Parts: sequence; C-alpha cells; structure tokens
Amino acid sequence: MHQVVAAGRRPLSALLLATVTACGSSHTPAPAPAPAPHATGTTGTAHRHTSQLPVFEAFERAVAQGTRTRTGMPGPKYWQQWADYRLEAELNPVSKRLTGKGKITYYNRSPDTLPVVYVQVLQNIFAPGARHNTNVPWSVEGIDLARVAAQGQDLARLEGDVPGYQVNGTVMRIRLPKPIVPGGSADFEFAWKLRVPPDGAPRGGQDGEVYYLSYWYPQMAVYDDINGWQTDQYFGTAEFYMGYGNYDVSLTVPAGWLVDATGTLQNRDEVLSPQTRSRLDSASHASGVVHVVTESDRAAGKSTTTGKDGKLTWHYKAQMVRDVSWATSAKYLWDATTAAVGDANGDGRPDTTAIYSFYRPEQRINHWDESARYSQYSIQFFSRYLWPYPYPHMTAVDGITSCGGMEFPMMTCIGGQWDTLGLYEVITHEIGHMWFPMQVGSDEKRYAWMDEGFTQFDQSQSMDEFFKGFDDEERNRRNYLDLAESGNEVEMMRHGDRYPNYPSYGVAAYYKPATILVALRGLLGRETFHKAFTEYGRRWQYKHPSPYDFFDTIENVSGQDLSWFWRTWFFETSRLDQAIDTVAVVGDSLEVVVENRGKAPMPVHLVVTRSDGRADSLNIPVDVWLEGARKTSIRVAREPTVKRVEIDPAKDFPDVDRSNQVWPR
Ligand SMILES: [Zn+2]
Repeated sequence: MHQVVAAGRRPLSALLLATVTACGSSHTPAPAPAPAPHATGTTGTAHRHTSQLPVFEAFERAVAQGTRTRTGMPGPKYWQQWADYRLEAELNPVSKRLTGKGKITYYNRSPDTLPVVYVQVLQNIFAPGARHNTNVPWSVEGIDLARVAAQGQDLARLEGDVPGYQVNGTVMRIRLPKPIVPGGSADFEFAWKLRVPPDGAPRGGQDGEVYYLSYWYPQMAVYDDINGWQTDQYFGTAEFYMGYGNYDVSLTVPAGWLVDATGTLQNRDEVLSPQTRSRLDSASHASGVVHVVTESDRAAGKSTTTGKDGKLTWHYKAQMVRDVSWATSAKYLWDATTAAVGDANGDGRPDTTAIYSFYRPEQRINHWDESARYSQYSIQFFSRYLWPYPYPHMTAVDGITSCGGMEFPMMTCIGGQWDTLGLYEVITHEIGHMWFPMQVGSDEKRYAWMDEGFTQFDQSQSMDEFFKGFDDEERNRRNYLDLAESGNEVEMMRHGDRYPNYPSYGVAAYYKPATILVALRGLLGRETFHKAFTEYGRRWQYKHPSPYDFFDTIENVSGQDLSWFWRTWFFETSRLDQAIDTVAVVGDSLEVVVENRGKAPMPVHLVVTRSDGRADSLNIPVDVWLEGARKTSIRVAREPTVKRVEIDPAKDFPDVDRSNQVWPR
C-alpha cells in the first residue's frame, strides 16, 4: 500500500530534545556515575548497551527442527504448504454482485497431520457489525457462502468436533471429514456471492464504472513452520499473509468490457478482437507505448469479440503467486509496451515482460497517459536493482479512489489525484511490492516493515534514478524524525493492528524502516548492503521469511554482529543524537570530543575539512557506546588549519538534532 507523505511539516521544537533521558550522560549525572568529560572507553557495566535480541521462541524451535537456520538461509527441512486454485466468477454490473465457485486442492507438505484447516474470507470485513480499524463503507455485505465442501463432502455450519465449518469474522475454520496426513492433500469446493463494495472501501471495489475485484474468493490461510496456522483477523490496517499457489481463473463479464487479471490470458482469440490482438502483438516488440484500445474502440465487436448472450469469459492462469485479483470496465483504454527484465528464467538470454495500463480517458488529467511508461521504467529499474521480474505482465490499473495505491500480484489498484511526481511515486511503490511481499512472502500483518518498509526504501531508489537525484530518502527520514522527536513513536516489532493511531503505524511500517535501511547502508557500505539485501530476497523468494531470517542474512553476508543495531532500531524507540561536544587545541593536535546524547548507539562518521580543501573521513566504532561511554575523543593534526568538523555529512544516520553535529557551530 502507499503512504501519502505529509508535505511541508516542520520538525517539532528542539526544546523537546531537552527531555531526552540520556542514559549516563554527563548532563544527567545521577543516578550512576557519569563518565569523566573527555573519557573514552568503558565506564562500567551500568551503561553497557544490551545488544542481545529478544528470544523468539517459535523461531528457536524452528531452528532446532531444521526448518530455519542461524545463517538466514532456509533450513534443510524447510517446508511450505501449497494450493492449486480453479476459480470461476461472473460479475453482474447491474446488481454489482459477483457470483463465484471454486475448487482448491491443498497440499500438506508439513510434517503435521491437519484435522482442521483455516480459510480466509476477507470480504467479511464488510459484513454488518464486523470489527475494523479503517474506514469501511457501511451496510455492504460479507461473503454469502452457498456451498462449502471438503474431501467430497458438503459441510454445514457446525460447532464442535464434527466435520463442518464455522465462520468467525474473516476467518473460516473447517473441521475435516478426514485429517490431512503429511504429504497428503485435500480438495475443497466453495460457491459464494458477494456485493462489490462501493468506493470508500479499502483496497478494491467499484465506483459504478470500474470494478477492482480483490479478496473475492475463499483463500487458504497460511500454515507455517514457525507459528502453525496464522488466523489473525483482517481489520483493515494490517495487511496480509498469503501462501503460494497456482491459479486457473475464468471471469465472465459483459462483452465490450476489458479485463485484466493476475496471470496470463489463455483465450485471447475468443475474447479479443483481431485489431486488439494485432496491436498487442506489436506492443510485445515495442519499447514505446502502443494504444491497444482507444476511446473509439471501446465496444463489443471493436475491442473485444461480441461474445455469447452479450457476455465473454476471460480465462487466466497464474503460477507461483500468493493471490489473484482482477479489474474490469467498459470505460477502460488499454496502453501496452514491453519492459526488459534481464535474464528472468535463467537460460542466459534477456527476457521481457508485458507492461499494461488500463485507465479512463478522464484520468489523463492525472497523467495516466504516462502510466505505462512509468511502469516500464519501474519494472526495468527494480529488475536491475533487485533481480529480474519473473511474471508475464505488470499492469497499472486506474481503480477506485479509495484504493490510493494497492499492490496485487502483477497488478496495482491506483486511485486519486496525482501530479507526475505523485503518479510515478505511487506506481513505482506498488511495482516495488512485486518483490516484497509478492515474491518474498513475509507476514505483513505482524511485520509490516518487511514489505512496506523495504518497498518504501526501494521506491526512493527508483525515484532518485527516474527524477535524477530526487531525495525521497530525506522525506522518509523527515517523517520518521517528526514522530521520533514528538516522543510518540512506537516500535517496529509490533503487530500492524496494535498501533495506537495511524501515524505511529505509518512511521513504523514505512518511514522508519526505509530510513533504517539507509542507516544500514551507511553502516555496511553501499556494496555490502546491496549484496546482503538482495541476497535476503533471493534466499526467501516464494518463501515465508521471519524477521530473524532477515537479520541473520544481513549478518551472514556482511560478516558482522549487528544485534545491537536490530535491537536499537527494530525493537526499541531509542533516538540517535550524536554531537560534537568540544574542539580544543592540545599541543599540535586538535581534540574533538564527541558525545552520544541519545540512547541509540551508532558509529560516528566524522569528516574533518582543512584549509587546503582536504577532507578526511574518520570512523569511531560503535563499541565505544556499547561499552557504556557517553563521550569519546579523537585527535587530529592541527595543521593545515581545520575549517570544519562534521558528524555524518552524508546523512546516513537519522540524527534528531543536526545542529550540534558541526564545528564551528
Ligand atoms: Zn506499500
């Protein structure tokens, strides 16, 4: 999902900084003995930074069982569930209802026998009386289940230990006729109806013209090696945790309506007119944008075939995806081009992917005629920066306004008003999500930073390149620092539905983790950081990493113990405030005293600039602070004359007060 940056907000008063309780600072000598000014090194265990990470018992168990490791690699016994979906749906735009049926084959690759399975029915966030923590239009409807069957047996809504199903909010529990043994599988069948929610609904819906169908079918919940069944409710703020599978989807809409869905269209000769097909063919070799369906083409018999009884069924197949969404409208234009992704399939030859954009002509005012180009640029950028995009298409969809920006495999639902900067930002953000979480399938509900934070960081890299030096990292840092300075920050290692308010969630999910990746890059150096970050993605592609798998991979690749870093930035709300305390002449040297005024320990990147223009970079290792010192000093030659001493001029680290980082002040 996409966060709108609050423009022009100023940092809160520096007065607030006076209330920072600097542990052992020489300004607050009690209760423990303060380090003598200008002292270096340890001043006693009372101030030693606890760098041990909290024990995550379920993860420890997984390591003991061999499904995870301490190196950040999946363990030799790593396993993951799998499901094949065959879904059919028909949309009636008059009643605004979707009628669906589906068959799911669920494969139990775990070592456990499963007497019960859980299925997500996310549409129930719209059920009357449903609990939610985001705005949801009132009086919609949940999912209306006409049939639930398991292992060939129709099931009734039943409590207790007999075969049957129960629905609790957005989670369905099915007690099976026969337990699924390890290595076994089970078939499920569902039939359902739902009303497509109006604009105002989160992450999909209809505005009378366009329909963005999200979370429209019963989907297997995740059963993983760390926590077993993940049955957290969908309340609106915290996002999703989804398993991987293959999908075969047939979607029936009125003829003349264009459809785009996760996957590859299987029956284009049946649904697309010869003109549309030939334009698509030319787009598949084009680097420029081809207008596949224009205003005057929008009709049955022109953009699409005429169909049967005024309807057409679009058939898609998608592989290795964690969800399927689709969009349809009679109003859409269709732009197409191609993006170069590098060698995606490992055959040594460069590959391409189709880039599509579906939008209404009225959206040209919001620059949607640029959207295919922006998508092409974004896919090419991330394919270079991360790894090749593996899917057959990437589509930007003009959806309902309340989508804002929302990611689905191969698709995005984008709504609202945009200038060119904003439209590029939201498109590149949602396309960034095709890597995290679409390919790297973390639990977004419990660790929003693992997809939103990483994507926010990736967005900044893409904007820097597209807009030639645009500093999106500064915007992320400012948003984090504003909340950090106010004292209302909440730590990142917290379930997405358990933040006291939306700003604290937004910072913890987006801006702080994006800023902390910049700090990690500053700590490790660009090359090592990039190697470790992409290695994490590669190791966990199409898998379910936990936070510790990320931490361990970064340590494993960089060869550093970073427990103090994870603890400080991910588990705590400590702030960083490094300051130049004094600069004094000592013989033929200058003694620079650096003070750590915040609680967050970080190395000090000091740059000393001289009258001859020379700039020396000095590094004070973090160990000084970890061992308990509050101040440390470093001596540099007096000559040639020192003009300026500055801490972290590159702004790698998110310091709450930069005014005390420069000498002379
Ligand atoms: Zn996002």
